Amino acid sequence: MFRLKLDEIPEEGLTLKWTEEKASLQAYLEGLSGIDFDFETPLYSEVKIQKAGQLVLITGKVQTHLQLQCVRCLKEFSFPLSTHFDLTLHPLKDAPSKEETELGSEEMESSFFEGGEIHLSEIACEQIFLEIPYQPLCQEGCKGLCSICGKDLNLSPCQCVKEEFPSGFFNLKKLKLD
Ligand SMILES: [Zn+2]
Ligand SMILES: [Zn+2]
Repeated sequence: MFRLKLDEIPEEGLTLKWTEEKASLQAYLEGLSGIDFDFETPLYSEVKIQKAGQLVLITGKVQTHLQLQCVRCLKEFSFPLSTHFDLTLHPLKDAPSKEETELGSEEMESSFFEGGEIHLSEIACEQIFLEIPYQPLCQEGCKGLCSICGKDLNLSPCQCVKEEFPSGFFNLKKLKLD
């Protein structure tokens, strides 16, 4: 895990590039709940850090390949991910006042730093989390698994006869008519 002390940021700012192996992130990831993906390649990060009074501004990008599970066919697949971000870090002891939050929170992403240290690895990981699709698909239009025989319908169709179940909406309508 990569952390940076505030004192290490010069007035003119700092540009950093680093690559982190999955093993180095493992302890952090294990402490989080709801992580159902794996890093397939190391996490590459590139950031520009600038102090602005009490605040720290960070812009940068993160890049990696994740291994996600398709929600339809349950196959693991490789998901290339690359994203740019802009963050404003507020010191934790000096959280922004209500007025400031109301004024600025809509456009500006905020985060905090504690004890004069910026947790760069965590920030990079968070940017990755934000970009993971809610329902990952191995391919657009993945046919999924047959609900009867469990066969992967992307490989070949199966012989199962599927009954057409009426939709919930249809049921509701019928109830009302009766
Ligand atoms: Zn799939
Ligand atoms: Zn089938």
